[in-house]
Amino acid sequence: MVETSGLLIVLSGPSGAGKGTLCKMLREEMPELGYSVSVTTRAPRIGEEEGINYYYIDKDTFERMIANNELLEWAKVYDNYYGTPKKQVLEHLKQGKDIILEIDIQGAMNIKKQYPKGVFVFIVPPSIQELENRITKRGTDSAEAIKKRLSCACEELSYVTEYDYVIVNDTVENAIEKLKAVIIAERCRPQRKKMEGFCE
Ligand code: 5GP
Repeated sequence: MVETSGLLIVLSGPSGAGKGTLCKMLREEMPELGYSVSVTTRAPRIGEEEGINYYYIDKDTFERMIANNELLEWAKVYDNYYGTPKKQVLEHLKQGKDIILEIDIQGAMNIKKQYPKGVFVFIVPPSIQELENRITKRGTDSAEAIKKRLSCACEELSYVTEYDYVIVNDTVENAIEKLKAVIIAERCRPQRKKMEGFCE
């Protein structure tokens, strides 16, 4: 039995829901999962690395990538541009390998239009209060930016019904367990298989 195509897993949700941490841990537990490194015009935060967290590019380069159709999707998130380079994702899928994207909701909705076969997972914090605590504790955003992120989060939460799965990130362990279960179940769908080697 062979896979017809890899899974495109889209992890999304409001900023501060913990999708970055979940994605990192998931990749440690499922090392066979490919990961798409996004391009961004935002400056690197302390501890972030070129090619690991993002490819950091300027606005002109970003706009050139859009014009050359090199991005699968892109969005402006909190005054910066973020985008998913197309090549790596399509190559992975063609080779039957699964790949995960961790992107914002606009980007996820964009991908859903082009690729409805994707697996769309919405990560939510246990409460808005908890979201505020997490963003504040992270210490990387100004008070103004935190306010903006929280007011966006309330609107973003209403997109939940557009997704295939919703996972409440109450504890990382619980959330990872559920994410793994989703991926394992999705790999078992008959539409993803060709029954080669069975009845020739
Ligand atoms: P941060 O600046 O905190 O790393 O990311 C801000 C937001 O941008 C997060 O919600 C993150 O998921 C999202 N993001 C990261 N990469 C991409 C991308 O390639 N496309 C889109 N649409 N959003 C992204």
